[in-house]
Amino acid sequence: MSLDFKGRVAIVTGAGGGLGRQHALALAARGAKVVVNDLGGARDGAVGTGSVTAAQAVVEEIRAAGGEAMANGASVTDFAAVQTMVAEAMAKWGRVDILVNNAGILRDKSFAKMEIADFALVVDVHLMGAVNCSKAVWAIMNEQKYGRIVMTTSSSGLYGNFGQANYGAAKMALVGLMQTLSIEGAKNDIRVNCLAPTAATRMTEGLMSEEVLTALKPEAVVPAMLVLVSDNAPTRTILCAGAGTFEAAHITMTQGAYIGLDMQAPERLAARLAEVLQRNGDIVPQSGSAQGRNEVEKAMRNTGL
Ligand code: NAD
Repeated sequence: MSLDFKGRVAIVTGAGGGLGRQHALALAARGAKVVVNDLGGARDGAVGTGSVTAAQAVVEEIRAAGGEAMANGASVTDFAAVQTMVAEAMAKWGRVDILVNNAGILRDKSFAKMEIADFALVVDVHLMGAVNCSKAVWAIMNEQKYGRIVMTTSSSGLYGNFGQANYGAAKMALVGLMQTLSIEGAKNDIRVNCLAPTAATRMTEGLMSEEVLTALKPEAVVPAMLVLVSDNAPTRTILCAGAGTFEAAHITMTQGAYIGLDMQAPERLAARLAEVLQRNGDIVPQSGSAQGRNEVEKAMRNTGL
C-alpha cells in the first residue's frame, strides 16, 4: 500500500523545525501542497527583508525538491491569524484536507514553583492552538466531506512527568478534544487522531544521553503521522512513535464491581478497591456515554432489575 498525498492540501503548525519540519517535508515529498506554519515565519511572497525565517527555509527546501508549499507566520494562539492562514490556503489551493497540530512550547518547573502565567501560556499554545486551527478548518472539512486532523499529544500527558504539570495537562486535553471531534467528524469522513512522539529535538535538548538522541531521530516519528492523515487513516487512535517503534495508547475502563447504593457503600468500596482497580478484561468505551450505559447495565445485572 503506498501512501500518496497528491492533490491533498496540508497545514502543519510549528513546522519551522523539529518534528513539524519533518512532517512538512514528508507530506510534500509524497505530493501534498503544504502550508508550513511557524511563529515568526514570513507569509509567502513577503520575504525580502533579508532574514529567511524558519518556515520560509522549509518552504524553500520543499520547492528545491520539486514540491509546493507556502510559509505562514501565524501564532496558533491567534484565532484571527489562523483563520487568515486557512483563507490563504483556500485562496491558493481551494481545499484543506490535512491539519497536523504540532506547534508547541515547554515551560517546565515543579508545580510548587510554576507561575500561573506559565501554566496558562502552555495551555494556550498546545490546547487553544489546536482548537483554533481545528475550528478554522472544521467547516471546510465538513463541506468537503473529507478531513484528517492530528493532535500532537505526549507521554507527559498520557502518563505524567515531573515538572510538566502545565504541559501534561495541555497534552491530555488534546486527547479529550480528539475523542469528541472524532465522534462529531465521523459522518463527514473527518478522522481525528493523536500522535504521541518521542524524538530528539530542540524541545528535548539536555534531557537525553548521546546514544539515546541518535536513536530518536525526528524522522522516525513521521510514518505514524503519515498513516494518521492518509486516506485509510484510523480515527480516535492514540499512536505512539519513537526510534522506529510504534504503539497504541488507550484510555481504558476496568470491569469494576457493583457495590450498591446504601449508606455502607463507601466502606464496601474501600474494602473491594483492589477488585475495582484490577485490569483483567479492561475495555475501551466507544464514547463517554458508553461508561454510563455500562454502569447501568452492570447495576441491573447485579440487582436483577
Ligand atoms: P520544537 O521546539 O523543535 O518545535 C516546535 C515548533 O513549534 C517550533 O518550531 C516553534 O517555533 C513552534 N511554535 C511554538 N509556538 C508556536 C505558536 N504559538 N504558533 C506557531 N508555532 C509555534 O519541538 P518538537 O519536539 O519538534 O515538538 C513538536 C511537537 O511534538 C510539540 O507539540 C511537542 O509538544 C510534541 N512532542 C514532542 C516530543 C519530543 O520528544 N520531541 C514528545 C512529545 C510531544
